[in-house]
Amino acid sequence: MAINAYSWAKDGEKNLSPSFKVREFRCSDNTDPIFIDSELVEILQKIRNHFGKPVNITSGFRTASKNATIKNAAKFSQHLYGKAADIWISGVTVEQIAAYAETLLPNRGGIGRYPKEGHADRTHGWVHIDTRAAKSRWVS
Ligand SMILES: [Zn+2]
Repeated sequence: MAINAYSWAKDGEKNLSPSFKVREFRCSDNTDPIFIDSELVEILQKIRNHFGKPVNITSGFRTASKNATIKNAAKFSQHLYGKAADIWISGVTVEQIAAYAETLLPNRGGIGRYPKEGHADRTHGWVHIDTRAAKSRWVS
């Protein structure tokens, strides 16, 4: 695995894998460059292939200043290192995504479940996936 730097403005259309482009991982404040872990992309591609549906990335790389504006975000979030993505797939439940991610990261990595149920402010649930060395699981 490797953390790579990209210019999303210059190389946004570049494919990182068959289904993912650089621009999908950009920070919502449009900072350039951005950082993306190649292992994270491999995991997302496996999820894409497993369910056979597009994987929507709502948050990939995050700058520290952007992260500081996000409610309840971890101060040293894995998003800051380009090692995390928050994803959802139309027609696939949070639990289904998380359960499959568990098979890809059985003894390590972060998997956070953010279900829609019980959260009126969420238009859909999502799953946070990261490639940290330690194992971390949570529901929020
Ligand atoms: Zn996240």
